Amino acid sequence: MSFSSLGLAPSLINAVTEIGYQEPTAIQSAAIPAILRGEDVLGAAQTGSGKTAAFALPLLQALLDNRSGPRQLHGLVLVPTRELAAQVGESIRKLASHLSMQVKVSIVFGGVSINPQMMALRGGADIVVATPGRLLDLIDHNALKISRTAMLVLDEADRLLDLGFSEELNRILELLPKQRQNLFFSATFPPAVQALADGMLHQPTRIEVLSEPVSKPDITQRAIMVDVPRRTMLLKHLIQEHKWSRVLVFVATKYAAEHVADKLNRNGIRAGAFHGEFSQGARTEVLGDFKASRLQVLVATDVAARGIDIARLPAVVNYDLPRSAVDYTHRIGRTGRAGESGVAINFVSAETEQHFRLIEKRQGILLPREQIAGFEAVETLPPAPANSVTDTVNGGIKGKRKSKKDKLREAAAAAGTASDE
Ligand code: AMP
Repeated sequence: MSFSSLGLAPSLINAVTEIGYQEPTAIQSAAIPAILRGEDVLGAAQTGSGKTAAFALPLLQALLDNRSGPRQLHGLVLVPTRELAAQVGESIRKLASHLSMQVKVSIVFGGVSINPQMMALRGGADIVVATPGRLLDLIDHNALKISRTAMLVLDEADRLLDLGFSEELNRILELLPKQRQNLFFSATFPPAVQALADGMLHQPTRIEVLSEPVSKPDITQRAIMVDVPRRTMLLKHLIQEHKWSRVLVFVATKYAAEHVADKLNRNGIRAGAFHGEFSQGARTEVLGDFKASRLQVLVATDVAARGIDIARLPAVVNYDLPRSAVDYTHRIGRTGRAGESGVAINFVSAETEQHFRLIEKRQGILLPREQIAGFEAVETLPPAPANSVTDTVNGGIKGKRKSKKDKLREAAAAAGTASDE
């Protein structure tokens, strides 16, 4: 697939070539032709998938095709945070800078003085990238009209709702013209997000991108050596030292999830357990508490490693190591989402060192083993008997060596049972 097969104008194909994009990403290949046909689009995709260019290129093309007379707002892009507003707005400006036409992209968000933004909007804008609250303030100040916007983009709709923007979104939808094209992007589709999409979109083309993101998330991985019985206290120490607003802690068993959460609570840290034996209702509740910051720590089994999406999760701790490298990827991927940075910390003990080496090998990483003052690991593995290869390992079956799989399983078992401190 090449950019030239998507129906884009030659000037836009030149623009992406000049920027250095060689071929469209999956979401670009699927979304661009549909958007150019004027269809609504429902995209399940994350930041890193190339979705900004997926909507920005057709948006710029529509401007090229339709602009005449005084400048009026053509495209409105709503985003949940100022960081994303800046990032998305700059990406659109970068694409537009390679065109011969002057395109005015205004970036507006709250938390800063409104005056410069009002000044910047004088004379209108072709495209506005905005957080919802500030957009409404600007409309209230008559700095901007959105009643003739041809295209609305909701970027990271799930986070827009997570951050409580639903009322603002409804007000904005009321002010927009009924006749418009809607593009809706979200990484996840819980019921509220689905309902918003259903209410907004007209027979949308659905696009789901499962491929790897173009840009790798910014996750710092660390390995700390710690003896099994000291892990909870080390965890408490790290939480206090780093002042993490939220931490997702992975353990191997539901018993460990309850136990570690209890122990943290007894030590003055608000923690909840999350595991597969919870009903859907209980899961939603504890996750809601975590997202709303009523809980600082969620101690979870691998059920939380997939599926759940928590915005602003600065840290993940593997209190018990995951069984496999695939689980490792899923676990650490809970942090560093949506362009934010995150840290993933692994607790490694003498018993689980071998297992962690296998995970590192599969991941193609090699992490330095850290010791934290006051929590230095002192345990060592008991020395193996002289004829260990034949006698202890396979129950005395002479001549049969442990296979790689056996070793992996043993280490996983050690990682699992080790959590019952
Ligand atoms: P986004 O998901 O829109 O935030 O894009 C993630 C990153 O991928 C940005 O740094 C883009 O510049 C980059 N990107 C977007 N499209 C492409 C492409 N077709 N080829 C290479 N990089 C791209």
